[in-house]
Amino acid sequence: MSILAPLQWGAVCIKNPLCKYAAKFYIFGMDKFIDAHCHYNRLNFVGYAGPGAFVCNAACEDDWASLLAASHCNKRIYAAIGVHPWHVCAAAPGWNGRMRENLNMNPGAMVGEIGLDRTHPDFDRQMSAFVAQMEIAAELNRPAQIHCVHAWDTLLRLLKTGPHPKHVVIHRFAAAPEIIRALIEIFGDGVWFSYRAPMRERALRAVAATPERQILVETDGNAPAPDNIRDAMVQIAACLNAAPDYIADITYNNTLRMVNNGQIE
Ligand SMILES: [Zn+2]
Repeated sequence: MSILAPLQWGAVCIKNPLCKYAAKFYIFGMDKFIDAHCHYNRLNFVGYAGPGAFVCNAACEDDWASLLAASHCNKRIYAAIGVHPWHVCAAAPGWNGRMRENLNMNPGAMVGEIGLDRTHPDFDRQMSAFVAQMEIAAELNRPAQIHCVHAWDTLLRLLKTGPHPKHVVIHRFAAAPEIIRALIEIFGDGVWFSYRAPMRERALRAVAATPERQILVETDGNAPAPDNIRDAMVQIAACLNAAPDYIADITYNNTLRMVNNGQIE
């Protein structure tokens, strides 16, 4: 994509002490990447001149407008708007109607971050907000970015019985391979699993069980962080016994397919 500035990483030392591959040197030509799930903080993104593109999520209504505006000015920012399970209690009445309106006015925008989180209160309201947002995503044919913590049974039940779009990203994924299989039964190749460094054993087991075309990389941060994306690619490459530049390539193409709603550009 011409909008992405080329980057030569050259010889790269992975210095992150949390990364189990810390001592090794990797050389790979990662000249492009897309962070498949992060959050928009204006101060961190304005003036950023480095490489990459970013799927930024606005997790509560207060954040929608600035992210949507930023995505118009900066073609390297892909916007997703929604109400995160941590914010459903504070959502102002009528938020879902306004969300639909905003998505209608922004045909390139996605839905996110939405989901279910058993470690946070008001699970019933979380469920109804999730279903309402999946209905909007299905109706407007937008990919949805999903957060799920200790709620896989409920999530799978709601996805099987309720509305959902054709394409979803399960972000910061680290669940069991059975969950991957169950989601693929529902979505086929329309579900992507997004991984963030540093990955521990559970996440690496999930990486090994994920079809290559459905692997994404993310930071879940609120600032551009190419080093963190590179760490994720290096860990995935080691886990799959593949070259890091091969992983850079497939995760880039996978993310493009996701933001283009399942279509390769
Ligand atoms: Zn997030």
